[in-house]
Amino acid sequence: MKRATPGRAHGARGTVFVVSAPSGAGKTTLCKRLLEEIAGIDFSVSFTTRAPRDGEREGVDYHFVGRPEFERRRRKGEFVEWAVVDGQIYGTSAAAVRKAALRGRDILLDIDTQGAEAIKRAIPEAVLIFILPPGREALRERLLKRGTETREAVARRLGLAGGEVERSSMYDYVVINDDLEAAFAQLKAIVTAARCRRERQAARIKEIAADFAAGRRAVP
Ligand code: ADP
Ligand code: 5GP
Repeated sequence: MKRATPGRAHGARGTVFVVSAPSGAGKTTLCKRLLEEIAGIDFSVSFTTRAPRDGEREGVDYHFVGRPEFERRRRKGEFVEWAVVDGQIYGTSAAAVRKAALRGRDILLDIDTQGAEAIKRAIPEAVLIFILPPGREALRERLLKRGTETREAVARRLGLAGGEVERSSMYDYVVINDDLEAAFAQLKAIVTAARCRRERQAARIKEIAADFAAGRRAVP
């Protein structure tokens, strides 16, 4: 099905969407669905030194690299931002963000709060979205249900979550992921709203204004 995507045509620059959440809040679930259901948005595949989880694919979920390679790329300035999260290093490819912008496509960055802060500094017009779980117990249950972490890792990630929730204050939007359907509808609405921004539609608005001006000249 072809969908109308305001602001994507006429060479409009794409929007950078940053999505952060405490681990287990449902960010991957929501982002995957967004990428499947909304046209014109690319996923920024980060580089990381952490090992792949079951089912994760190289070049799709992450670029999995060793520390020496990460360091080499970092020194070459390949990352628009990078951060240490839970003992592993993660970085966003500057080239991927640049490429999406040049092609007029939106790009979705699934990164932590340190990364979001750095992106806001580098790209002030980026749209920052924070996914909140409905509470600590729900977060614990989701982390356990996912079954990808050891019990110690779950405890560690729960410990980090409090600080991350506090840092939600620097975000433009907050989506509370209690009911998944409701949360997804909110996330989609945020993307649509960003695409409807006047600046984003400037070229198209100019064309429409020119069309009206031509009409005025033709019909005295
Ligand atoms: P994150 O990427 O934020 O770490 P995930 O998307 O992997 O989180 O979700 C963690 C677990 O919680 C998964 O098993 C997922 O199916 C589940 N989950 C996500 N959203 C909800 C929700 N609204 N209600 C119940 N479970 C959810
Ligand atoms: P996970 O290991 O669960 O995939 O990710 C752990 C955390 O690292 C998540 O909060 C995720 O958003 C964040 N993350 C993933 N890629 C990047 C990145 O390129 N930069 C930063 N700053 N954080 C990232």
